[in-house]
Amino acid sequence: MKVSGLVSLAVSACLCIGAYAFDNQISVNAEVGRKVSFDSFDMSVNGGEVIRGVDVSSVIAVEKSGVKFYNDKGKEQDIFRTLSEHGVNYIRVRVWNEPNDGNGHSYGGGNNDVETAALIGRRAAEYGMKLLVDIQYSDFWADPAKQTRPKYWSKHSNDVLAGEIYKWTSWVLESVAKAGGEIGMVQVGNETNCFFCGEKDMYEICRLFASGNKAVRDFDKNILIAHHFANPSTGYYAWYAKVMNECRLDYDVFATSYYPYWHGTTENMTAVLKDIADKYGKYVMVAETAYPYTDKDGDNFGNAVTSMSSGAVLNYDISPKGQAECIADVFQAVANVGPKGIGAFYWEPAWLGPQNMSYEQRRQQWNTLGSGWATDFAKDYDRDAVSCGGSSYDNQALFDFSGKPLESLDVFSNIFPRKEKEEENYLIGDTDENGIINVLDMVMLRNAVIRNDYIRNADMDSDGRLGVSDLVIMQNFLLGRTKE
Ligand code: CA
Repeated sequence: MKVSGLVSLAVSACLCIGAYAFDNQISVNAEVGRKVSFDSFDMSVNGGEVIRGVDVSSVIAVEKSGVKFYNDKGKEQDIFRTLSEHGVNYIRVRVWNEPNDGNGHSYGGGNNDVETAALIGRRAAEYGMKLLVDIQYSDFWADPAKQTRPKYWSKHSNDVLAGEIYKWTSWVLESVAKAGGEIGMVQVGNETNCFFCGEKDMYEICRLFASGNKAVRDFDKNILIAHHFANPSTGYYAWYAKVMNECRLDYDVFATSYYPYWHGTTENMTAVLKDIADKYGKYVMVAETAYPYTDKDGDNFGNAVTSMSSGAVLNYDISPKGQAECIADVFQAVANVGPKGIGAFYWEPAWLGPQNMSYEQRRQQWNTLGSGWATDFAKDYDRDAVSCGGSSYDNQALFDFSGKPLESLDVFSNIFPRKEKEEENYLIGDTDENGIINVLDMVMLRNAVIRNDYIRNADMDSDGRLGVSDLVIMQNFLLGRTKE
């Protein structure tokens, strides 16, 4: 059945296939969190927009576990679309080398191998969001206490390791870009507080960093290179920056984790970052932040921070409103650095577990789907992974336990400068981009499914993948059975 001439190419997607196309619904209306303005923002960064980012590394595994995400109206919707509609313009994703035991068992934590990062990058790009690729040079979690070398690199000298880091970085970037991700920034290392890939000598670390950085520059000179440290209140940041300068390390962004309940005041963070920005001309940003909105737990796995946590300084209400105030303050603290402050990323705002499930069912999911922080198979690599577990951050998410956006998610739409979104201008279903939808588009879609290719225009249900569901939708459309 031919439906040629249905719509012209210039007509926005919302007119094409009612039930499945964008409806241009602006879901942001609540004024939660005050306006934060980066008054002296460097307009050459990120197309002139503050980086308003989130790290949703676990989301593919979380979706597989059965968690559904909704828009503000309670309608099920691709979470990437929801994030974009709320002003998020950057997605961060962690990448581990081989997060599995070599016998087909994932270590969990979202199974963040290169393929997962590529899928997340593609889904982000579909909604115009750039990607920060957080390469951890580890097979599993890397943080200030843990920088375990990947299994296959464990015996290497630093010379050999530097070569492997170059090759691995190139491979990750090629894979993500090939899948359709728009890489805007790359982190070489994660929370590398004088500890990186098993090495603890900061000068040697800089030598290894340089190898990763060169791979990024060789891949694409427009990509920003970030180095990331945890906790600005430790007093060591000035020294890290000084050594990196002595080593003439070629990088752009000095990034920090800033968990407000552990990492000192926002004033201190601003001062520490401003010192580095002023002295070395580097951009600065927050690569991770989070705050709880509830003391409840949604997945039968204890949470990292609640009002009962000892040693956690909780200066805001434990509520969506308190959470929103906290996020606005973090952005403001980066803005207060001046022109070198470029934005912030919220960590894991959607790391939820499905509701109405027994503990045993959950354990099974964590082990088979990798939707929790670790599986039972990670312990040989990670000494802390004594048994599998779920999400210890579901009470710090920006979605409630049922997957509906909290009002705190609206904060991102209040961070300026911000550009209005350009109208989506492609026709869903027009696989061959000739302006009409007909059986040839169906053929092309079928071939793409068989070859496991991805064509944005053919993604009828906008889930970032091409499959049977897309074929069914297009077939129904061609047969005139389109839902309105
Ligand atoms: Ca939990």
